[in-house]
Order: sequence, then structure tokens, then C-alpha cells
Amino acid sequence: MTAPVAPVSPALERYEAVIGIEVHCQLRTASKMFCSCSTAYDGAPPNSHTCPVCLGLPGALPTINRAAVEGVLATGLAIGATIPGATRWDRKNYFYPDLPKGYQISQYDLPLAAHGRLAIETSDGPFVVGIQRAHLEEDTAKLIHAADATGRRISLIDFNRSGAPLMEIVTEPSIRTAEQARRYAEELQLVLRTIGVSDADMDRGQMRVEANVSLRPRGSEPFGTRVEVKNMNSFRSVERAIAFEIERQAVALDAGAVLSQDTRGWDDSRGVTYVMRSKEDSHDYRYFPEPDLPPLRVAPAWIEAVRAALPELPAARRSRYRDELGLSAYDAAVIVAEPDLAIAFEAIRAAGPRLPAKEIANFVTGDYGRAVKESTERTSDGLVRRARAVELADLLRRISTGELSRTNAREVLIQHLAEGGTVGSIIEAQGFRQISDRDALGNAVDAVLLANPAAVADHHAGKPSLGFLVGQVMKATRGQANAELVGKLLRARLERAEAPADPDPADPR
Ligand code: ADP
Ligand code: MG
Ligand code: ZN
Repeated sequence: MTAPVAPVSPALERYEAVIGIEVHCQLRTASKMFCSCSTAYDGAPPNSHTCPVCLGLPGALPTINRAAVEGVLATGLAIGATIPGATRWDRKNYFYPDLPKGYQISQYDLPLAAHGRLAIETSDGPFVVGIQRAHLEEDTAKLIHAADATGRRISLIDFNRSGAPLMEIVTEPSIRTAEQARRYAEELQLVLRTIGVSDADMDRGQMRVEANVSLRPRGSEPFGTRVEVKNMNSFRSVERAIAFEIERQAVALDAGAVLSQDTRGWDDSRGVTYVMRSKEDSHDYRYFPEPDLPPLRVAPAWIEAVRAALPELPAARRSRYRDELGLSAYDAAVIVAEPDLAIAFEAIRAAGPRLPAKEIANFVTGDYGRAVKESTERTSDGLVRRARAVELADLLRRISTGELSRTNAREVLIQHLAEGGTVGSIIEAQGFRQISDRDALGNAVDAVLLANPAAVADHHAGKPSLGFLVGQVMKATRGQANAELVGKLLRARLERAEAPADPDPADPR
């Protein structure tokens, strides 16, 4: 759907890209991963959501957050992964000021979910991304590098985020193009939001995407040296950064350079990646089992309970809209990609079961979708704040019976969203009842034809002017005319005018 983000260089024809994506996502839980501190620290004063556990004080002991485990289980089930009967926690050791314990509690060789997959649609058709694992770990504190009043450079630390539950989802190196990578990240976000485990907002750091990129000569098996790219803050940057990296590596390899296994950052404004540091290997972390936590047994009944609570997943919903409701693949994708639209679509269908699904889809992706984009006031069920599904269904019904023109329907919608009020009362108050009376419209059509001889002449000369004339009639009737009928009446009159007229005895010619 989007244009290629980077030109394809000839060097690329000789290489195939191998891409693996790592996503860190903040789970939507009330408390942190291993303590009871609240995760509602957004906007709170620094270091106000802390305790001995998440400050890493000596002797403090962790306890496991059940809701966070369920978030990973739900994700695992949604991506068709295997859930082991038992899992455990491991310490990932490294020193950094945002990690006060000197280690992060994570999962190493026994993740909560393994061997999943996610199907995506790309401009080259469907593609399945293999997923290695999804595991649970804790977030770090936040470092803020700034300057004090005298201009001295200082670093501040806020522990509010320290110990927040973080899920890491890692793909197989099965992705081959920048577009596939972007589509995977978009679909994963949609799944996470649909099952309600994360808000997964990239802008707010709730979903962080890292890309591992290497090249190999086409037709050869072994992987090349990979580079890890970080700091991509939007789906578009994911695609651009990978496209840039593929191009950069292709040019370097062609020039005979030896690539090094670096971690690189993405500079969005310059559109380039740059070296941040050389990459650690996993043995540098000296993983070992976490002695302060017991292994976690995942009973089959628990897995089944989580599975039973899963809502309809995006892929299933898209195919239901296509196969059962007859929507186009495009409409189904647009509606399902935007939970607010899907909610409105379902609600209007429930309120107006006899309305054709296609009509509802057009409305939801069209006028309603625009109104949603402009509105910041949403309810928890995703409708724009004052919208009522019964009223929206009523609006569609009145359009389909010809009682309301589309132009005026838009006005009614805007007013309904702004002030509430029933569609019936808005139509009454605005005098929006559509004019479908042939005589009344005939008069308006005649007046417009008389007033616009140039447009009439254009029509006879084969230039398209019918739309203009319809527009003039709509204007003259304050948008109340039945546009379809106006078109018919205009065409009939223009055709009649083309037929040879009776000679006029008063004509001197
Ligand atoms: P780490 O923890 O060091 O980042 P992993 O081995 O878990 O690394 O791999 C991270 C990601 O890199 C995974 O998505 C994996 O599929 C991908 N990957 C591994 N090898 C390559 C490679 N040669 N080229 C591209 N991606 C790779
Ligand atoms: Mg990595
Ligand atoms: Zn705490």
C-alpha cells in the first residue's frame, strides 16, 4: 500500500537480506513484575513508584506477577506458540546505572512461549513470520541526561519504570524484506492490542522494535554478519531503517569490506544508521537460574482458561468479514486494523441487522472514520464519545431509503457526534428532509439549466459538465435534493435538448 521507501541498488540484486525482529513490549498490568508497586507512573513525580524490590536493595525478594505471566501466555496462544509445562527465571548479568541489582531477571533457555508464527499480508501477497519465543522480564529504570542550571552535564535516574513487566518477542531470521518487517510489527501491535495485553504505543515506548539485519549472496545458505538496529520510533522508521541497512551492507560487501557485528542506532531525520557500540555475545551475560524464584509450573487448566478468554483475533476477523459478510479484503483490513472502527462496525451491525454490511463498512471507513480521527474523545468501547450505535444505524437507514442525501447525512453525523441528540431530531431541526419530489426537483433543475448556458453548451460539445450541474442543483436546494434523481432529470432534459427541435416560425433564419 505504501511506495518503496528507498531506491533499490544494483548491489542488492546479488544479495538476499536475512532479518529477525525483536520486540519489547510493556504489559498492561496494575503492578510491577516482581513487587506490588503500581505501574501507573506516567506523569508521576520521579521515584515515587518504588520499593526495596524495584530499587534493588540488598535482601529484598521478588514475587511473580500472575497477570504478567498471563499476558505472555495469551500472546503465546495468539501466535500459536507452544507453552511448556514448566518454565523458570534466569539472571542476565550486566552493569549499567539503570539496573541497580547488576542483573535483570529474565528467561533464558525456557521461555514461557516458543515456536509461534504470525501471518501477514504484504504487497507481494501473504507471508508467515516464524516466531522463536516470547518471554517475560523486567524493565530498567530511566536515565535522563541533561544540564543543570550552570550548564554542567548531569545524569538523573528515575526508578518508576524499574521492574515494570516487559515481554520480549523474538522472530526467527525468516523475514526477507523491509516491508515484511514493518507489516509484522504492525500486525503484532494489532494482536497485542486486540488481546488487551499491551497498549503497544511506539511513541510512548510501550512497544520497542529492534531489527537484526544481515545479507548473504543469493542462493547461498550460511548467514552473513548481522547488525542490530535500535531507536526506531515508528513503523515507517522500521521500514526505512532496514531498507537503509540492507543498502549500506550491500554496498560495503560489494566493495569487499568485512562487516562487524555492531549495534547501530537509527537517525530518523538524517535517514541513516550509525554505530552505537559493538555487540555483546550472550555468554557475556553469564546467565544462570534465578535463585530467589522457584520454577514456574504452567498447569494445562491455566492455559485453557487463558485460551478461552481470548477474543477473536485480527486474522480470523478479517476472514469473517470477507467470507461471511462479503466485504472486500481492503475494507476488512482497514476496519480490523483500527479497533475503534471495528467496534463501530460491530455496534452498528447489531443495531441495524438489516443494513447491508457493505453500506456499514463504507460509512465506518468513510465519514465515521474521518470523524474518529478528528475526535480525541473516545469512550472505553471505542465509539466517539457521544455516538450511539442505534442513531448511526438510523442514519444509514435514512440514507438508503433516500430520505437523507449523503451531503446532509454528513452534517447530521457531525452534529450528532458534537452534541448528541437523535438523528431524527437533528434532521427535523435542520430541515434536512431530502427532496425526492420530481416536480419540485424538476423546477430546480430547469432553473439551473437556464442559469448555466455555458455548462449546457459544454455538455453538448462532449465536455463533462454534468457533475457541475448536479452540484449547482444541490447548492440551490441546500443539499436536500436527491442527487441520484437530479442526475436522472438533468440527463433526460439534456438529451431532449439534443434532439432536433421543431422549426420555430419566429426564427428569422
Ligand atoms: P540477541 O539476544 O543477541 O539479540 P538472538 O540470537 O536472540 O540475539 O537473535 C536476535 C534476533 O536476530 C532474532 O530475531 C534472530 O532471528 C535474528 N538473527 C540471528 N542471526 C541473524 C542473522 N545472521 N541475520 C539476521 N538476523 C539474525
Ligand atoms: Mg538482540
Ligand atoms: Zn517496587
